[in-house]
Amino acid sequence: MALVVQKYGGSSVSDAHSIKRVAKRIAEAKRAGNDVVVVVSAMGDTTDELMDLAGQITPLPPQRELDILLTAGERISMSLLAMAITNLGVKAKSFTGQQAGLLTDAVHGRARIVDVVPHRIRETVERGQVAIVAGFQGVSRSNDVTTLGRGGSDTTAVALAAGLEADVCEIYTDVDGVFTADPRIVPNARKIDRVTYEEMLELAASGAKVLALRSVEYARRYGVPVHVRSSFSATTGTLVSGTHGDAIDPNAPSGAQEEAQMEAPIISGVAHDRSEAKITVVGVPDKPGTAARLFEVVAGAGANIDMIVQNVSAAQTGRTDISFTLPQGDSPATMAALTGVQAEIGFESLQFDDQIGKLSLVGAGMKSHPGVSARLFGALRDANINIEMISTSEIRISVVTRADSLDDAVRAVHSAFDLDSADGEAVVYAGTGR
Ligand code: ADP
Ligand code: ASP
Ligand code: MG
Repeated sequence: MALVVQKYGGSSVSDAHSIKRVAKRIAEAKRAGNDVVVVVSAMGDTTDELMDLAGQITPLPPQRELDILLTAGERISMSLLAMAITNLGVKAKSFTGQQAGLLTDAVHGRARIVDVVPHRIRETVERGQVAIVAGFQGVSRSNDVTTLGRGGSDTTAVALAAGLEADVCEIYTDVDGVFTADPRIVPNARKIDRVTYEEMLELAASGAKVLALRSVEYARRYGVPVHVRSSFSATTGTLVSGTHGDAIDPNAPSGAQEEAQMEAPIISGVAHDRSEAKITVVGVPDKPGTAARLFEVVAGAGANIDMIVQNVSAAQTGRTDISFTLPQGDSPATMAALTGVQAEIGFESLQFDDQIGKLSLVGAGMKSHPGVSARLFGALRDANINIEMISTSEIRISVVTRADSLDDAVRAVHSAFDLDSADGEAVVYAGTGR
């Protein structure tokens, strides 16, 4: 008998009808002889709506209270889903993150899971019942309710799958799997059958929100195979695992290992991200220690910086400009902290720009193939799109463009790398894309 962890995203449970539909799917998996643990997200755009509501009360809600508010979303969907499954004659019980034993650190709003102690979940499964767990939430050592960051139900699911040693973790969403680009932007994106943890990590870190970044980190650390698929169809989705091919026998001759490596596609996909902003520090004295001090201040403001670009300094003034990108949400605190040290560091001014977009091209094969950057830049030139910043990793190239050119940029690059599907358009079954 297999133990399956299934996670249903918000767009799969957006109303009573969808909850009943998902309940049927779960009951079928149970009746087919599996042990089933379900992780569920808040209904539709509930989390965004709760955040908007808090914003109408106060511009900066206390993080602890915001977490208690947001976790209410998953409590609604978990209990309704348990009722719907029970109605179908299959016993089901719902649990909050705390009851399910998801222990986290105390960083409200983006808590990390530090341990999973799923006694009650195991007990429920052993009694032949379906356990439903609220995604996206846990509890800190001081017994405060925490949330895991946006998209965190994916992480709950993978962590539970690891903790319960499940056979597979299925992530049910509103598209048929991981595609070569967001199908909402590139309708002829292609479904990827298999992708490695490394490639999926880069895609998720670059904005492909189909899987939350931390869920992929967790899956890689514990070797949890993740199957991303649609809750609206029976189509096989995308398998995220350690290799592109079948699992490699560790005793196999080294040639077999190389062969699996050879199968790595040059390009896995194109990701995009609209959630960052750019700060430019203008007229920075170009002398040792300035960048160190500047980024100490940025780190002190709690900002997670992404790209950094420093210009060549002007000979007459001995001054330079430094630009960096960071999550929009981290910007107000960072701008305030930098303004506070303007006199000390001696820079001239600050510029803030939240109208940027980031495109990333990801593929494990690019490290051994020359010409990938040239082709990427050529595609953007042909589409008349200006590049403002560039950064690379071993298996990724990212560029910053104007936000309003981002969609065109993604489509141009997707075509330039021959990723367009020949078999028609990808289906987006539900969701608002919010
Ligand atoms: P859920 O509510 O199920 O958690 P999300 O909205 O978090 O769903 O993630 C699914 C969405 O991710 C898709 O509807 C799609 O718009 C978006 N997406 C972005 N990049 C990709 C990609 N490369 N492949 C598939 N979906 C993607
Ligand atoms: N409901 C949370 C969110 O919208 C968690 C999740 O859906 O994964 O971010
Ligand atoms: Mg999600």
